[in-house]
This record gives sequence, structure tokens and C-alpha cells, in this order.
Amino acid sequence: MIKIRNIHKTFGNNTILRGVDLDIIKGQVVVILGPSGSGKTTFLRCLNALEIPEQGSISFEHDPKLSLDFAQNPSKKDILALRRKSGMVFQQYNLFPHKTALENVMEAPVQVQGKSPEQASTLALNLLEKVGLADKADLYPHQLSGGQQQRVGIARALALQPTLMLFDEPTSALDPELVQDVLATMKELANEGWTMVVVTHEIKFALDVADVVVVMDGGTIVEQGFPDDLFANPQHERTRSFLSRIN
Ligand code: ATP
Repeated sequence: MIKIRNIHKTFGNNTILRGVDLDIIKGQVVVILGPSGSGKTTFLRCLNALEIPEQGSISFEHDPKLSLDFAQNPSKKDILALRRKSGMVFQQYNLFPHKTALENVMEAPVQVQGKSPEQASTLALNLLEKVGLADKADLYPHQLSGGQQQRVGIARALALQPTLMLFDEPTSALDPELVQDVLATMKELANEGWTMVVVTHEIKFALDVADVVVVMDGGTIVEQGFPDDLFANPQHERTRSFLSRIN
């Protein structure tokens, strides 16, 4: 279980997260929904310390244990350890443009884990195969479609064998016909038992794949539940209002 408690994040005078609590159970897929500006991306970035909250704690309770209390100014070492617990998939793939698909996936295992190029290349090829891109290993990002680039992004995030996979609106920059391939890859990961937190507007994906749906508004979680229940019978007015706008 990953226990997240009372996360607060402010930018300047702007308080974005106002005490977010969440439990993430190993192997579960948590989908985060909510209106624009509600703090979904900021929350995801706090989970892997791309943003540092002013208050709150994150504990990974399964092995190896890691627990950070942000009010106590955790050390750089602990923050780095938190970052390495998760792999992040971004909306704008953020691939290195001058590296091939294979080299993009090899980068972190070589640079961060000190793997030999041979080991990293074998791992990267396996991961590219997993996301259906073994035959594109030697192509550069500009030679790939957006959906293929995003699947390289997923392989790259998997390469450090994280405990948690974070997806920040992974399909929102894609042409509609490319969305399904990426969602299918994510569904496969879910079926393999990866623990995932996914910020998305894809309601069908949430219904199909999520174990838990979380609705954020105004920097807090206003409601969470099983997808079927939450969509059929939202309890909170702000959930109802959000769902009525996207349906
Ligand atoms: P969307 O669905 O539009 O992506 P969101 O729910 O993911 O929205 P966030 O991206 O977390 O929302 O943004 C919440 C608020 O925090 C926004 O008002 C945004 O302008 C602000 N914000 C995010 N990052 C920063 C930053 N680095 N500096 C200042 N303000 C920021």
C-alpha cells in the first residue's frame, strides 16, 4: 500500500493542493478525474517529487519501505529515492529527439542504474516488444506517430522497474485514431498487475480498467469509489456537475 496524507502544494500565493489523502493498493489502477485546474497534474507530480509539497507525507509500505514527511524537509537522497519509485508518462512524450526509440528506453538504465549498454539494450528491446514497437527500435521520434512515441514513453518509464506508474493525460495530445493503441497498452500493464495512477478524461478507460476512480476539485479529493458506482450514482454535487459536463 502507498499511503498519501494531507498533501499541500502552493505556487506563490496560489494554493493548488489543500490536503490530499489517498491510499493506493498494490496492483490497483487509480484513475483521477476532475475539472481543469483542479490540481490533478500537480498531485501526480508531487507523487514522484517533480514538485515538492510543503506539507504532507508519502509512505511506500511494501518492500523496500520509504516514508517522507514533507513538513520535515526530507533530504535530497530521500527525494531521489521517492522519484525512483515511480515512472512517469507525460502528455507530451518528452522523448530525446536525437536518440532512437531504443536509445530513449536505454538511457535511464545506463545513466541511473549503471547497467552496461548490452544489458540495457536487451531490457529496452524487451520493453519495446511489450508495447508493440520492437520493429521501430532504430527509428527516431520524428519518424514515429504520436501514439508510437507515447508507447516509447511508456517503455522508457517501465525501464527502471518502478513500484508505481504515473500517467498524466497520456492520450490527450494524440489524434483520436491513435488513442486506442495507447489505452490498450495501458490496459495490458494493468492486467499484468502494475500499480498505476492515471490522470485522464477517458471515461470508458476508467470504467473498463480502473479499480478506483478519484474525483478532484479545488485541490482536494471530493469523492472516490468503484467506477460503476461512482458513475452511476455520484454522491457529491461537484462530481455530478463534472460528470454532466463531460457526458
Ligand atoms: P488540467 O486538466 O487542465 O491539466 P489539472 O487539474 O491537472 O488541470 P494542474 O495542472 O495541477 O491542474 O494545475 C492546477 C493549477 O496550478 C493551475 O491553476 C496552474 O496554473 C497552477 N500551476 C501548476 N503548475 C504551476 C507552476 N509550476 N507554477 C505556478 N502555477 C502552477
